Amino acid sequence: VHPLILRQLRKAGIDPAVADPALARLLAAVSDAYLAADDDRRQLEHSLKLASEELYERNRRLQQELEQRAVLSEKLVHTTQHRAETERQYRAVFELSPVGVLAVDLATGCVLHVNDAMVGATGHSREQLLSLAFADLVAAAPGERATLATPEATRFGPQERRFRRRDGSTFDALVSGIRTTDELGRTVGWAIVQDISERKAFERQLAEAARRDRLTGLSTRTVFIERLDDAIARVRTGVQSVFAVFYLDFDRFKFVNDTLGHDAGDELLRQIATRLAALVAPDGGGEPEARSSIVSRFGGDEFLVLANGLAAPEDAVGFAERIVAALAPAYSIRGREVHSTASIGIVTSAECLTSAEEVVRKADVAMYEAKHLGRGRALLFNHAMHARLTRRVAIEHGLRRGLRAGEFRLVYQPIVDLTTGTVVSAEALLRWTHPTLGEIEPSEFVPLAEDAGLIVDLGRWLQREACAQLVRWRTEDPLHAPATVSVNLSRVEVALGAPMLAQVRDALAATGLPAGALQLEVTERGIVRDRDAARALLLDLRALGVRVAMDDFGTGDSSLGLLRHFPFDAIKIDRSFVEDLTASPDGLAVLHASVNLIENLGMTSIVEGVEQLSQVAVLQSLGCRCAQGLYFGGAVPPGEFLDAVRRRAAAAFQKTA
Ligand code: C2E
Ligand code: CA
Ligand code: CA
Repeated sequence: VHPLILRQLRKAGIDPAVADPALARLLAAVSDAYLAADDDRRQLEHSLKLASEELYERNRRLQQELEQRAVLSEKLVHTTQHRAETERQYRAVFELSPVGVLAVDLATGCVLHVNDAMVGATGHSREQLLSLAFADLVAAAPGERATLATPEATRFGPQERRFRRRDGSTFDALVSGIRTTDELGRTVGWAIVQDISERKAFERQLAEAARRDRLTGLSTRTVFIERLDDAIARVRTGVQSVFAVFYLDFDRFKFVNDTLGHDAGDELLRQIATRLAALVAPDGGGEPEARSSIVSRFGGDEFLVLANGLAAPEDAVGFAERIVAALAPAYSIRGREVHSTASIGIVTSAECLTSAEEVVRKADVAMYEAKHLGRGRALLFNHAMHARLTRRVAIEHGLRRGLRAGEFRLVYQPIVDLTTGTVVSAEALLRWTHPTLGEIEPSEFVPLAEDAGLIVDLGRWLQREACAQLVRWRTEDPLHAPATVSVNLSRVEVALGAPMLAQVRDALAATGLPAGALQLEVTERGIVRDRDAARALLLDLRALGVRVAMDDFGTGDSSLGLLRHFPFDAIKIDRSFVEDLTASPDGLAVLHASVNLIENLGMTSIVEGVEQLSQVAVLQSLGCRCAQGLYFGGAVPPGEFLDAVRRRAAAAFQKTA
């Protein structure tokens, strides 16, 4: 029976256990109904609970969403404000920019926006500008497109464009920009238009200045080359028949500069210019061809004349005579009479028609040879000069390649002690076999390598090579290997200073040769240019332990003074002294004095160019210490050097035995 019914029965004093069967059945039925109701209620309660939980959850989520929306909308408000602000700023930049800004519809070319600067620069009103197309604003050269940019380009420029003002005048501008798409879907090019007319004007001034020599008012090299190119083209096409080029170098100009001062030198140049200018343009008349003749100053005291309108190549000589005659009278410089003649190299159009540069180079070569023949001469470029020039150019070009290709090698010439007869040193001498020109003398290629600055690279290689060679000889035959290897230093290398010291140190370190086994030979010419720097380098080299010798002693002017002031270990007396021994009676006296001086200064005397036994005897009697020359042996490849030394030693032994 359901507990609730049981409780009610008890209250009514009825005992369900003794109830009659009918009542008991009723009670049971009621009880069942009660129990079913209980179940229903419990189920209902459960469902309610679930539903309320779900509702709660949904509510929570809604709440969250609301909050997020609030944040978002707040942000949105912010962004919109910010965007408006940025746009305002951009607009201000656009409007206030001192540089012109222009927006163009790239499809139609129509101008969409302009700023004040653009308005100011063009002289158009804003309304006018906005009614124009980009093509109306620029002055395009024929064939040049008058569009701002292609619609494909995301960026364009910087490019120089010429803009047209309202009044028809133009200005140069640098245009660059970007492509955007606007709210109407149009492809818009935004361009910055920077007025560069001032810069262009300055550039034009500069270009003009480059065309006129400030000192003399003559045209410059640039103009000359242009005119010469024109003349070459005219001859080539048969419009003109003959021209001649004269390369002038004044002989005493340096003297005027040094004695009368630079202002006087400038004055002289101006007067020369006036005389030359009168030659090519006599009162501005003459044939049109002759009128394109030109005089220009190539810098310093070098002038070039291009004479057009000659009848025949032979007339060039006559023209040169007129130049010489015009320059012959004395100049009056500050009340003084000054004479200045020119050496003149001539090239005519009969010679070559390749390039202006080549014509000038040939005229230069002819001038150079004219100068060597004596002052005030004119010389026509000829084929021998041409051959010399071609060879020189070939050598210059071949040097760098030759060094890389290993075309250089060293040969060694013995230096012999005259008292003992032993080989004390080996002088390394450069040899070069050019692939087409064959064997080339160092006296020919070394000066060219010096001019080209390549002697330093050559030197770096050969110093290492010579040091390594002595190390190899020492290993091979310590008894007969010479005590030192002598290496020639060019004047260019001496002028290097500190880097040269480092290079020598590197060569020694890399090969392991002791510093005392290296002797460097420098010529007098190599040290007179910058005595203090040269002296410092030689002192540094000696501090390193390297021996230093003066080469070609007696070929310069101030040899004796140099000996006292420079820290030499040895002096190599030039072979001209030995030649003089037999040629003149004074020769012996000069050699004697030199040897004495050298030995008294504590230096070793080495005589070069000894070719005969008779010379050896004289040198020994003069107290000369060492000698070098064909008599003792010429330069040989490194593989033959020790054999030569051993043969000498054996011969000396036989003589004494
Ligand atoms: P240099 O330094 O005075 O070299 C001596 C030159 O005289 C060498 O000519 C040598 O072969 C030559 N000679 C030696 N004994 C006699 C002789 O008894 N009679 C005659 N007539 N000549 C003799 P080379 O090798 O042609 O060199 C000429 C010059 O080239 C050298 O004169 C030197 O100034 C330069 N040179 C050679 N090799 C080098 C180098 O490696 N570096 C530098 N910077 N210059 C070098
Ligand atoms: Ca030498
Ligand atoms: Ca020498």
